[in-house]
Amino acid sequence: MKVNFVDLQKQYQDHKQELDAAALEVFTKCNFILGNQVEEFETNFAAFCETAHAIGVASGTDALVLALKALDIGPGDEVITVPNTYIATALAISLVGATPVFVDINPQTYNIDTNKIEAAINPRTKAIVPVHLYGQPADMDPIAAIAKEYKLYVIEDACQAHGARYKGKRVGGLGDIAAFSFYPGKNLGAYGDGGAITTNNMKLAEKLKLLRNYGQKVKYHHLIKGHNSRLDTVQAAILNVKLKYLEEWNRKRREHALKYKRLLKEKNLVKPYELPSTEPVYHLYVIQIAKRNELLKYFAEKEISAGIHYPVPIHLQPAYTELGYARGSFPHTETYAEKIISLPMFSELTDDQIEFVCNELANFQKSIA
Ligand SMILES: *Cc1c(COP(=O)(O)O)cnc(C)c1O
Repeated sequence: MKVNFVDLQKQYQDHKQELDAAALEVFTKCNFILGNQVEEFETNFAAFCETAHAIGVASGTDALVLALKALDIGPGDEVITVPNTYIATALAISLVGATPVFVDINPQTYNIDTNKIEAAINPRTKAIVPVHLYGQPADMDPIAAIAKEYKLYVIEDACQAHGARYKGKRVGGLGDIAAFSFYPGKNLGAYGDGGAITTNNMKLAEKLKLLRNYGQKVKYHHLIKGHNSRLDTVQAAILNVKLKYLEEWNRKRREHALKYKRLLKEKNLVKPYELPSTEPVYHLYVIQIAKRNELLKYFAEKEISAGIHYPVPIHLQPAYTELGYARGSFPHTETYAEKIISLPMFSELTDDQIEFVCNELANFQKSIA
């Protein structure tokens, strides 16, 4: 049995007619840039996130960049985030000219250790960017309390967590602004790059609309220096179709996670922990295990694709030597990078496939015992 890490084919085949029709409508209308489907999607996505506003942009990275710019964060400013996230979280901070300052993760949740944030704050600190990594919401209440005390902005990196809930509320409305990615493999994925920004603040929403469209409200009249970062109309049309099924797809991911939890009985592994009163959406199902690299090889022989998210913490990437963090700066992040493995996870995964993965994992552990 072959088990892909992510399989986009099945989802397309399941909804082919609807998706094809939505894309073709854009070709027929030729409304490629900011066509009506973009605004429709923004309305639908804001409703889904339970926020007042959603603004479609070109990618999750741009969503973060524009969020930082909307809050006037730039050169000389520091922004707190984690070193175990996709590189884009840190890149966005660098791209606006600010400096990323890392805080280690909580060893149970893989998300920012809220007890360590205050030590990283200084007069240059402007914002905290908690990442809802793997689809698990970060512990937002303590973050909000710290932000309030030190007058910092909170920008959620919700790129892996479309639909996740924290104390009953959807991610996307838990800080000042939130960034989402529609990279094809995300829980809500487009058929190319795409992203969105959500906020409950009307002034920020208006500024973000200017920022994503050359700073113009009226064509050729530029109020501020903006970007060209609009959500493509074809992508918006695809996303409008897919958004209807997101809740069901997330429910399936949660079911798969439960099945993994039941079937993974081996002692020498650590399964995901769910923070109380959160509803994670399992963008990834990550466990910790000894001999991780050997397991990856073993899986490859059995035609099981697994991943590592992420193999090299950001502070140890060549791109970030300038920050001057030595090895050992963030012990949890660094230890986990050696032990974590992401098992196959997508909504169309079958019970047979999950059983096969778990059986092979047990066989591997017997073979090394
Ligand atoms: C995917 C991702 C991004 C970047 O999104 P793109 O659409 O690929 O630019 C940023 N942060 C996190 C945590 C992500 O997973």
